[in-house]
Parts: sequence; structure tokens; C-alpha cells
Amino acid sequence: MSTSAPRPPVSLRRHFSWLLLGVTVMLVGGVGLSLWFSLQVDSQNQDGLLKIHAEGARDGVKRRLDHYRTLVDKLARDPELEDMLRFGDPPDQQAWVRSRQTLIPDLYGLTLLTPEGEILGDATTLRVGPRCRAELVSRNPLRGMRLHLQRGVAGREHVDLVSAVRGFDNELLGGVFLSMRLDALKRILDEAAYPGQTLTLLDEAGETVVSNGNGNGNGNGNGKASGAAREIRLDVGDAGWTLVARAPVQKLTRSGKVQILVGGATLLAVLLLLLETGMLGLRRAMLRDIAATRDALTALARDESVPPIVPHYAEFEQAVSDINLVALHLQEQRSRLEHLSLTDPLTGLPNRRAFETRFPQALGFAERGHHIALVLLDIDHFKRINDSHGHGVGDQVLLALAQTLKTLTRRADLAARLAGDEFAILLADLDAAGVALWYQRLIDHFGGELNALGLNQQTGISAGQAWLQGVPRDSMNQALARADRALYQAKERGRARLVFDAPAGEKNAG
Ligand code: GH3
Ligand code: MG
Repeated sequence: MSTSAPRPPVSLRRHFSWLLLGVTVMLVGGVGLSLWFSLQVDSQNQDGLLKIHAEGARDGVKRRLDHYRTLVDKLARDPELEDMLRFGDPPDQQAWVRSRQTLIPDLYGLTLLTPEGEILGDATTLRVGPRCRAELVSRNPLRGMRLHLQRGVAGREHVDLVSAVRGFDNELLGGVFLSMRLDALKRILDEAAYPGQTLTLLDEAGETVVSNGNGNGNGNGNGKASGAAREIRLDVGDAGWTLVARAPVQKLTRSGKVQILVGGATLLAVLLLLLETGMLGLRRAMLRDIAATRDALTALARDESVPPIVPHYAEFEQAVSDINLVALHLQEQRSRLEHLSLTDPLTGLPNRRAFETRFPQALGFAERGHHIALVLLDIDHFKRINDSHGHGVGDQVLLALAQTLKTLTRRADLAARLAGDEFAILLADLDAAGVALWYQRLIDHFGGELNALGLNQQTGISAGQAWLQGVPRDSMNQALARADRALYQAKERGRARLVFDAPAGEKNAG
């Protein structure tokens, strides 16, 4: 049979320290995790916001480009144009152009083209630069190219759009060339961007078309800004252009900072609260209760009085009340034992030990000048009563004498049974006559008691008296020896009498 070893006791301090550490780690972990999630959500929100702005800008740009296309197509479908291109002369054609130039905002140049891409009219008046002119002839946009970006001259960047003009039989008669300043596109990006955000429009070659803010992009062709940034790229329809939206990575938004601040402050407050009231307070009070209980038990073990315990925790109340109960029982037992150890069991009178205990006090009175008489009593021929009437009757006689002594002694006196039929009495503040009178009353009372027992005149009491001496200071044995000597004389002289062991000057009453 195997017996499991008893579990070693756990230190309350260490237990609480671990508990505190555990709770702190859990709290810090919990708050940290919650903050991390908040930051994640915050980052997603920033992404979402950037996307919304980018899509708004992209839609604006698309609408504006569609508007240009519609515009150039509408111009190309002008019913006047077929005749003008077939039969018109340059002044008419230029006049047609001039009449429409003033109606189109953000217009840079407008002209009619021959099927070969040549300008009809004066290029300078129509605001078509030499670069555009050369490209129109070399690339002839009427054969496919619809949208072309011109960034040759700084500050005069623009997009060229061309729409073909066809005759009744679908014959290519020429075209309308329209070049638009980029201001309108820039305005769209400026309006869509929020502070710190960069919106850049790239053409199909990755070159910057236009960008928000003061600059028109950084010119490196990919719209990148320095520093960590979140980025979104969106296609701008069939033009092959791309809108790049960039925003610096904001590690912490204002709400994120507030969240961290509130989270940190809450954590700190909870930890302090936990530390002070929850843990340290709990531990302190508990240790105090345990210490008070331990002190009480120590006091009990040392036979000392138990200090009052006021427990902090209700859980300790039962233990404290049990300790108080045990203390009360012990106190009662102690006083009972003390009483028993100082009391004669038969007569209930103080015994020899009690007499020895009280004697120094009586001696103190004698030292202070009081008359203290020590009287030794012995029942005469007590053996005979035992022998003739039995031990029980003998006990009755002893009890009768004890009763007599209880009746005749005052608070300041002491009557004790020393042994067998021998008693010692200390009488305070009586002179020899008073002692003699007291003895007489004793005899009378005891006689009455004997009569009640049916033992009339069958025994008497011999007594020997000695005065306690204060100066020089007496000893108990000396005083007892003197009284015993007097008692012996009383026996010798015929019993039933009181004999004084009187010092010089005292009158012997025997
Ligand atoms: P004396 O006059 O010389 O004193 O004669 P005595 O017979 O009284 O002799 P002593 O005082 O020596 O005898 C004491 C006797 O008391 C002896 C003993 O048997 C008896 N005795 C002692 N204690 C008790 C007790 O508790 N009960 C009873 N009944 N007798 C006791
Ligand atoms: Mg006797």
C-alpha cells in the first residue's frame, strides 16, 4: 500500500506574488491585443478611405476624358463640315474653328485636318504648335490614335484628341483636332485629394500626366513619393492611363492615439487598484489576521491572557471565536485546578498549600504593627471517634469543625486544614483576650455541632497560639513551631484548652 507524501505548505506571499504576476500578464496581454486589433482596424480604415478618394478621382478623370471625346466627336459630326472639307477654302475653315474656340473651356488648340493629317489654316492662329503639327503628319492620328499626350513644352502640357470626319459614303474627308489643357484634370485631382495624399495620373508609358498639388508629379514616371506610404492603382478606362493614389502610412491616427492613451490609463488604473486593494490589501489583511490568530494561540500555549482579536475577514471569525472559546475553557479549567490545588476536598477549607500561600501576606500585616495570631487546633482523641463510630462519623466531625471555623472567621482571617484533624487559623487584629474569646466561641459552636451529630461531649479541641512577629521578621516554620509547641502543651495539660506561646509581656489565657 503506497501512501502519498503530504503536500508541502504553500507560502502565502509567493502564492499572491504569482497570482499578481499572472493577472498583470493577462491584463497587459488583453489590453495589448485589443490595441493591436484597433490599430489593424485603423489601418484598414485608412486603406478604405484612400480607396474611396482614389475611385472618386478616377471617376472624375474618366468623366472628363469622355467629355473631351464626346466633344471632339460632336464637332466632327457637324453637318457643315462635309461641305467645308470638300469644297471650303481655308478662311471659311478657320472661321468655323474660331467660332467654336471661344465656346470650349480649357481649350488649347482646335483645327480641322486633311485626311493626311495636315492642318487646314494658320497653325499659329489655331494654336497648334510645331511639335503637334509634325506628329500629326508623321503619325496621322486619323488612322487610329485617339488620345495623345503632349508634354514637350513645360507649362503647356496638353492632350490631343482627334475625330475623323467622314462623308456620306464613309469616305475619309479629314478630321477635327482638339488639344485640351490639363488644368481640368488637375483640378479634379486637387479636389479629390485630402491633405498628405498624392493623386497622380500616369499615361500608358508610366509617365506622369498630371498630379495634384503644386507640382505636376515628380517626373520619375511612377508617381512614387519618398517615405513609407500606402498605395492604390486604378485603371482609367480604355485610355491605358493609371491613377496612382498614395498616402503616407499613418502609424497612429488621432483616434488610435486616444485609444492607446485610454487603454494605457485604464490598464494602469486597474493594475494599481488590483495591486493596492485587490492583492496587497488582501494579503496584508490576511497576514494580519493570521498573525493575530497565531499570537492568540501562542498566548494560550504560554498560559497568558489572550489579546482580543478583531479579524478583518469574516472567514477568520469562526477560528477567532473558537480560539476565544478555548481560551475561556482553559481559563475556567485553570481557575478550577487552582481552586482544587488550594482547597481541602473534604471540608472545602483552604488546604496547607493555600495556607502557605497566604502566610506571607499575614506576616506583612504583622510587620506593619497588626496583631496576627496563629492558632493551631487539633481534635482530641479523634482516633477514638473513628474507631468507635466509624470513619464516616469522623468525617462528619471534621466537617462540623470546618463549618464552625467558616462561621467564626472574618474576611481578614484564614482558617485552613493542615492535615488529618489538625487546623491552622490566622486571626487578625485580636489581642490575647480576643483570641481567648474567639476560642471560647469556637468551643461553644463546635459543641452545638457535635450535639447535632449525637456526639455530645465526646471530644474537644486543643489549641496552641503564637503571635506572628514582624520584627525581627518571622518565618512560617518558626511561627508554626511555636504554635505547635503551645498545642503540645495544651494536650499535655489535659486537652480541650487553648495555650498561648506568648512572648514576654503577653498574658497567657490557658
Ligand atoms: P490526640 O488527642 O492526641 O490528638 O489523639 P488523636 O486520636 O486525635 O490522635 P491524632 O490527632 O494523632 O489522630 C489523628 C487521627 O485522625 C488519625 C487518623 O486516623 C484520623 N484521620 C486523619 N484524617 C482523617 C480523615 O480525613 N477522616 C477521618 N475520619 N479520620 C481521619
Ligand atoms: Mg487529635
